[in-house]
Amino acid sequence: MEALAEKDLAHLLHPATNLAMHRKTGPLVIERGEGIYVWDTHGKRYIEGLAGLWCVAIGYGEEALVEAATTQMRKLAYGQLFASRSHEPGILLAEKLESWVPPSKRHTGPWKFLFGNSGSDANDTQVKLVRYYNNVTGRPNKKKIISRLNGYHGVTLASASLTGLPPFHAHFDLPIPGVMHTGCPHAFRHAHPGESDEAFATRLADELEALIQKEGPDTIAAMIAEPIMGAGGLIVPPEGYFPKIQAVLDRHDILLIDDEVICGFGRLGTRMGSEAMDMRPDTVSIAKALSSAYLPISAVAVPDWMHEAMLEPSNQVGAFAHGFTYSGHPVAAAVALRNLELFEERDLVGHAARVGVPFQARLQGLMGKPFVGNVRGKGLLGGLELVADPGAGKRFDPSAKAAIRLAALAQEEGLIVRALAGDTIAICPPLVITEAQVHELFDALERAIARFADEQV
Ligand code: PLP
Repeated sequence: MEALAEKDLAHLLHPATNLAMHRKTGPLVIERGEGIYVWDTHGKRYIEGLAGLWCVAIGYGEEALVEAATTQMRKLAYGQLFASRSHEPGILLAEKLESWVPPSKRHTGPWKFLFGNSGSDANDTQVKLVRYYNNVTGRPNKKKIISRLNGYHGVTLASASLTGLPPFHAHFDLPIPGVMHTGCPHAFRHAHPGESDEAFATRLADELEALIQKEGPDTIAAMIAEPIMGAGGLIVPPEGYFPKIQAVLDRHDILLIDDEVICGFGRLGTRMGSEAMDMRPDTVSIAKALSSAYLPISAVAVPDWMHEAMLEPSNQVGAFAHGFTYSGHPVAAAVALRNLELFEERDLVGHAARVGVPFQARLQGLMGKPFVGNVRGKGLLGGLELVADPGAGKRFDPSAKAAIRLAALAQEEGLIVRALAGDTIAICPPLVITEAQVHELFDALERAIARFADEQV
């Protein structure tokens, strides 16, 4: 084993990793990247088919972002936003975001952007804001939050509780009280035989209504949802799902928190995923593609009416007492601002919509390949679900680790993709991918599927 890999095994504790398996396999050490490609320490090239962790939207090696970071670092390496201090990159990024995040449902004025460092802390902030808002508006019992089974919202105590995946709760004493999970809009797995999209969406809305009635509408503050569910299985809700869910939420004055951490900034061929999925949120969480992950930064879009309600209470206790040392870090903010300028100059959202067409066509083309049970996606986001018997939709035995095996074969074929729960492979390349590279990606995936099929006999 190479020296770096040995040091990895000796000293690193890997997040979101099967630690026992890692001890046997060791790491894949990536050394450099350019465009949609990365190279490992042996010089092998891969298509980064997951854009890192769904985040390197602009691709690797973007000199303009290196320039933005170094220029800002030389000028003002750190500046805070606490106690009315401010700085240019933070102010200009907040102003820029106004044109990227569509108005909220009950919009009365501009958003206020509250910066953080990760998607997890953005969603944690959402939980705190919802509590704060209902406390200061005289509804102290309206605190519970509904999430969805298979939703992924992060790993801090509150955001991991919102996450609806068992490994993120097991051994951590989660979820925290006051978080409930409603049904997952995964038609391939959960729609009844012959059930239409419309009927399935209605059933999910009825299930939500029943949960709200059981808990008491006056106790529920908000629901959080990703436009398309990412890490929980690349799940595209059925047509008409969000309007039906929102009608239920509106009836009971329950806020909708939109987790745009994956879908935001062009991934679905629209500025925010909400626009592609007919979602009308009250508040929004953004991260990842905001800076194309060149530096960590996230934000919560706080609606004006919520901000207004916070003014007097913050005066009473002396502060709106929330935020991080690195909230709106000027170097991260300068990089995010330049990143969004480049998105606009290069029309990356339009590009994602255009290249999303051959991408989705190649994805659909995987249906009929051996052991492919279902494919789904939108824009430059896609998932394929493996099944042991496509005709019967019969799952592989979990011990077969089918998706993990397919991802390993794809890696041998020079393509990095992610194996998710439910034997699904996720594909989420940098948005700068060209049509020719889309074909290169799917050619590699098809070679991996063929090898996977050969292994099953
Ligand atoms: N929300 C969604 C939809 C995500 O996909 C993720 C991470 O993948 C998060 C939140 C958490 O973000 P982070 O890993 O930056 O804490």
